[in-house]
Amino acid sequence: MINLVLFGPPGAGKGTQAEFLKEKYELVHISTGDVFRFNIKNATELGVLAKSFIDKGQLVPDEVTINMLNAEVEKNPEAKGFIFDGFPRTSAQADALAELLTSKGTDVSAMVALEVEDEVLVKRLLERGKTSGRADDADESVIRNRIAVYYKETAILKDYYQAKDKYFGVDGVGSIEEITERISKVINTL
Ligand code: AMP
Repeated sequence: MINLVLFGPPGAGKGTQAEFLKEKYELVHISTGDVFRFNIKNATELGVLAKSFIDKGQLVPDEVTINMLNAEVEKNPEAKGFIFDGFPRTSAQADALAELLTSKGTDVSAMVALEVEDEVLVKRLLERGKTSGRADDADESVIRNRIAVYYKETAILKDYYQAKDKYFGVDGVGSIEEITERISKVINTL
């Protein structure tokens, strides 16, 4: 089983790459951000709760996010592997993921991190905000807060996976195809 953690700051291109990689490697793509947005659109209890954090560029609390992620994995008992996009974002989430996958006799295969400079991220997200309909992409201060939260709470996961020899940094600037190719080179070594 290949279980990939696709990592990087907001705007690094995780969602775009996941769309290509899931086809190429027949993996189930789970984007926690997408699941939250689906719940917001359908005004579920989870959606209402998540919205109050997402609109400010803050993380949804771990317990809520972990329960949701576990449920998404359980929905796919036949999966050959997963691409986790936007999860884990905290050490507690990384521990929960390890526990979940261990209970299924598998593990995280690799964390692939898309590396992109901050100013490029802000530009990309403002551009995406013109068409994505995402409130958190439309406001530069929310975008900058999301990037700050990434460095404060999420970036430490690089050390977490590096300590397990599972961290692979990939240059996230270039054409979509070039970046897919760079990630594929990593996956092909697994
Ligand atoms: P994304 O689509 O990955 O950029 O996520 C959009 C927003 O959803 C984030 O800014 C967070 O508010 C929330 N979110 C997504 N994934 C997580 C996660 N793993 N932990 C906490 N909050 C999350």
